[in-house]
Amino acid sequence: MLIGVLGGGQLGRMLALAGIPLGHRFRFLDPDPACPASAVGEVVAGAFDDAAAIDRFCDGLGAATYEFENVPVATVERVAARVRTAPSARSLAVAQDRIAEKEFFRSCGIRVQAFEAVSSEADLAGACGRVGVPAVLKTRRMGYDGKGQCVVRAPGDLARAWREVGGQPSIYEAFVDFDAELSVIAVRGADGDVRTYAPGVNVHRGGILRRTIVPAPGVAPAVVAEAEGAVRRALEALGHVGALAIEFFVTRDGLVANEMAPRVHNSGHWTIDGAVASQFENHVRAVAGEPLACADARGFSAMVNIIGAMPDRPAMLAVPGARLHDYGKSPRPGRKLAHVNVCAREARVRDAELAVVEALVERAGG
Ligand code: AMP
Repeated sequence: MLIGVLGGGQLGRMLALAGIPLGHRFRFLDPDPACPASAVGEVVAGAFDDAAAIDRFCDGLGAATYEFENVPVATVERVAARVRTAPSARSLAVAQDRIAEKEFFRSCGIRVQAFEAVSSEADLAGACGRVGVPAVLKTRRMGYDGKGQCVVRAPGDLARAWREVGGQPSIYEAFVDFDAELSVIAVRGADGDVRTYAPGVNVHRGGILRRTIVPAPGVAPAVVAEAEGAVRRALEALGHVGALAIEFFVTRDGLVANEMAPRVHNSGHWTIDGAVASQFENHVRAVAGEPLACADARGFSAMVNIIGAMPDRPAMLAVPGARLHDYGKSPRPGRKLAHVNVCAREARVRDAELAVVEALVERAGG
């Protein structure tokens, strides 16, 4: 089947790398003809709101999906009018708006922190009075990897925070004092079958994911079960088809949902080497309307992102259990260039190799 993907970044590239062995072919819509996915499929070069490019992208597709969360909802609707498209435009619309997302979580019985919508500096002062400090002010839309957000420690920070989000419609949310960050990814097939990946503990720096560890160290089985239950409820409520990721804060009182992504997720990259079938393969299967494969983890895994600068390549490739996934991008500060998966049958072997990999990444300044 020819599968169309809106977005040609590393997620699109990895979807194709998982789908080609199943006999599928891929086409991407991306403004950059040399995007990372150009190595693994045809690229229709065009803006995400270019109607002529969208129509060319749709010609002859068997199914379509998106790998980029900031694709306009109208674009997904236009594609869905011509080609079977998953996940739906509705899943995307909920995930694109932080307020809609938090209200959606609540409607599924998933706990969220106190928050308020803010659309003026006066609203911000009111929200601060009710929600309190510390808090985080984030733009409602188009935020990713910690961009478009600002921590408010005292009411005196409000004017600066409002400037930092560019005076855009925002969410003012209570700062969560968390023990860990946990994410869970599940894939729902067109037939309603759901496969859940083992949740991982994530470490962020500067708002960007640095590392994921699976199985989640130090997280009680009941908390893992709570995360798995939450993602299942969200999948069902949306009638979602494809991968869905939810990021949580682990607190003393249980899980607090931070955000969701209606797509394959960076915290699930370990599944390429550490699960029977990866998140990418199961997403492709769901989009193609085919049965899902087993999502069980194989042993102990870790994923380390390589950001901004590539580490010593021969040294990295010399670590026996480390698998390098290079996205073929030119280095730029803050840019995700690659990731390394370290998988082993024993946690202590995984941890020893992870230490070597992290030292190499650290040395490169990534
Ligand atoms: P986000 O863009 O919402 O994923 O935020 C990026 C990262 O900033 C999160 O993974 C957290 O590490 C941190 N963060 C965001 N919101 C909050 C919050 N309300 N309380 C504490 N930390 C937060």
